[in-house]
Amino acid sequence: MRKVRIRENSWIARLAARKLKFHRVAIVIGRTIFLYNVTSANFIKSRRWVMHELKHVEQFEREGWFRFLWLYMLDYLKAGYYNNRFEIEARNAETEEGLLFKYDLSAYLKPAS
Ligand SMILES: [Zn+2]
Repeated sequence: MRKVRIRENSWIARLAARKLKFHRVAIVIGRTIFLYNVTSANFIKSRRWVMHELKHVEQFEREGWFRFLWLYMLDYLKAGYYNNRFEIEARNAETEEGLLFKYDLSAYLKPAS
């Protein structure tokens, strides 16, 4: 399993939240999920949201960093956020449980008591 990192209180996520007018935001760059206005503990609890963001991690791996950022930006300019093909793909992956086994977020899970 590939380790994915989470960073809270991220300035880049804050910029994205402002731009998109979202209250809370998660943004993926490479294998790191940057959060704004949500703790990693609360983020992790939202499985659909986690799967959505893990799909973006997969997109980064599939397309390669520069290609992905470039294609995402082009689609964003053309179609906006919601109709961006990478967002559509990520929304469709919100029930793709396999992603939870492909990527390792165990560092952010509470130890079983
Ligand atoms: Zn997304």
